[in-house]
Amino acid sequence: MKTYRIATIPGDGIGKEVIPAGKALLETLAGTTQGFTFEFEDFDWGADYYRAHGIMMPADGLDALRGKDAILFGSAGDPDVPDHITLWGLRLKICQGLDQYANVRPTRILPGIDAPLKRCGPADLNWVIVRENSEGEYSGVGGRVHQGQPIEAATDVSILTRAGVERIMRFAFRLAQSRPRKLLTVVTKSNAQRHAMVMWDEIAQQIAREFPDVKWDKELVDAATARMVNRPASLDTIVATNLHADILSDLAAALAGSLGIAPTGNIDPERRYPSMFEPIHGSAFDIMGKGLANPIGTFWSVVMLLEHLGETQAAAHVMRAIEKVTADPALHTRDLGGIATTAQVTAAMCELVGKAA
Ligand code: ATP
Ligand code: MG
Repeated sequence: MKTYRIATIPGDGIGKEVIPAGKALLETLAGTTQGFTFEFEDFDWGADYYRAHGIMMPADGLDALRGKDAILFGSAGDPDVPDHITLWGLRLKICQGLDQYANVRPTRILPGIDAPLKRCGPADLNWVIVRENSEGEYSGVGGRVHQGQPIEAATDVSILTRAGVERIMRFAFRLAQSRPRKLLTVVTKSNAQRHAMVMWDEIAQQIAREFPDVKWDKELVDAATARMVNRPASLDTIVATNLHADILSDLAAALAGSLGIAPTGNIDPERRYPSMFEPIHGSAFDIMGKGLANPIGTFWSVVMLLEHLGETQAAAHVMRAIEKVTADPALHTRDLGGIATTAQVTAAMCELVGKAA
């Protein structure tokens, strides 16, 4: 029997509520299948760790993760710690340290969810947004001079490398090719950003030649937001830079009904290192400790984790359970307009998953 080594990092806020729920689901799953089991290691990194040690995770933290098969992550963020510390000190450190250069964000309208997207197009919308996760606008290069003076200036430099763009384009084209519609939209802003984004466009054109069966088009990022609402069925796989995809994927999550249900994977496609799966929502301190956190985003992240491990049957089994849960309004948490608690939704999921597939 195969044993997968899974690192869990609940992090801050409601991460500490949804990650135990995700772990309970994986444990239930392991109990129902003969095929595999999990060995978990929990890491208490995050803002509490920062208060005690002055850093969000230990210096040798990445080494502890390298030997794992996958990582399940909650969220990093705390009202008393500046955002750039929580973000750069933990999540981005792991993404960059383990070269998880492809951030993958699926969007679908789940049964029973009052998604604004339902009013925009057909109910079977199925998008996946690929976000470049290692460079671009979030490369961290820049600086600030002459603070407080009239000549004060600051820069954030967006760096795209040929190698970085080629690998994310190839990943996106390959993903589009693997999906039924074989359709890719490359999001750009080369009309205004005249250097890096022009190279981005050129490389898209170059990589497209390797995938003659993929239909692809190019869309300016501003037009892409409008198209998501006005012509949603014209989209399938979408690839964009770090910042552009950050914005598009929050829009996609809101259109699908709630930040609380959307998952994401930070993938190392070459599988040199473990990939990391997480709900897209943050620490949400406003609802922490009240049992209001929707765990569906974490459960869907578990589906992505299982798919990444190659356990496609188990992944489909968990996804069917998610669809049954969202279809039942009695199991909707407050963000979906219901009164169910995190514990109730988790118990319902575990019961469904516990029945043989
Ligand atoms: P962070 O600073 O870590 O991003 P945040 O406080 O900005 O955290 P988000 O997670 O970005 O919070 O979410 C914004 C709001 O959406 C939250 O304040 C919360 O009310 C709601 N929300 C987010 N995730 C969930 C969830 N899983 N279940 C229910 N409501 C949620
Ligand atoms: Mg937030």
